[in-house]
Amino acid sequence: MTSPYDASMPLPKAELHLHVEGTLEPELAFELAARNGVRLPYGDTDELRKAYQFEDLQSFLNLYYELMAVLRTEQDFADLANAYLARAAAQGVRHAEIFFDPQAHTKRGVELGTVVEGLWRALGSSEANHGVSTRLIMCFLRDDSAESAMETLRAAEPYLDRITGVGLDSAEVGHPPVKFREVYEAAAALGLRRVAHAGEEGPPAYITEALDVLGVERVDHGLRCMEDPALVERLVRERVPLTLCPLSNVRLRTVDVLADHPLPAMLDAGLMCTVNSDDPAYFGGYAGDNFDAVRSTLGLSEDRLRELARNSFAASFLEDDEERRERYLAEVEAYEFP
Ligand SMILES: [Zn+2]
Repeated sequence: MTSPYDASMPLPKAELHLHVEGTLEPELAFELAARNGVRLPYGDTDELRKAYQFEDLQSFLNLYYELMAVLRTEQDFADLANAYLARAAAQGVRHAEIFFDPQAHTKRGVELGTVVEGLWRALGSSEANHGVSTRLIMCFLRDDSAESAMETLRAAEPYLDRITGVGLDSAEVGHPPVKFREVYEAAAALGLRRVAHAGEEGPPAYITEALDVLGVERVDHGLRCMEDPALVERLVRERVPLTLCPLSNVRLRTVDVLADHPLPAMLDAGLMCTVNSDDPAYFGGYAGDNFDAVRSTLGLSEDRLRELARNSFAASFLEDDEERRERYLAEVEAYEFP
């Protein structure tokens, strides 16, 4: 892909907010479409790339779901994840906690097992093949029903050795976290870690609700906490990690231009921020590109960039491998900026 940011920063980092379906580059989409006999309504990759101009979250989601039609077999999901891991590794990602959207596949006739086992073909050997450790987080579509989310959780029980946690994504407004209270209780009872998108397009109250009702350990995006000083104070006090996605925010017009992004103010406020790519094929950059962008446009210092990297490992679900976390943190300290 063409990145507007030339030198993707290899500062060691964990990526904690990454939708594997959002890593589908136009070239791979056409390759998989040909392999599976799926017709895409675009003449070529250039025409498809032109469709990557979004008005808001919903206009992105429409294309995102349309293109998923090319993902049919275990090998397709393995190829998708391997392509991401190769790009992420080149940009300094050492550990990735990867979201996937099972309902987006099961509703079009692709079995959950195909998705999980396909992704696992790549994730199970990600360290050997790419030098990246990985975890898998299963997200529920919040614009689908709570019943569907619960069915998905039950269907995932045979695969829990492959799945570390659950998340909540897709169209936020009108779908408050409380809708998924029972699902998250059931997930917790199964020993799954919990995260949720909140405060991207939805109000700050959704962030509070995600913490108090769903018991999330990290908030995905959480940008709009800045509208509520009491909430900011709480997030700082409780050291709640926020997985920010600056280039995504610009593409989906959550902020007008990157220069207006509140990341510097959030760091100054003491919030535990991380920087991630969200749906990098669609939003103009992978993790290192996001770091480059905030460095060049927001003027973040090397200390701040190192803090973001440190936060990413501190916030990752590596409690089962603290030795690894320490090793990654040491890599952050040893990193020399070019
Ligand atoms: Zn996201």
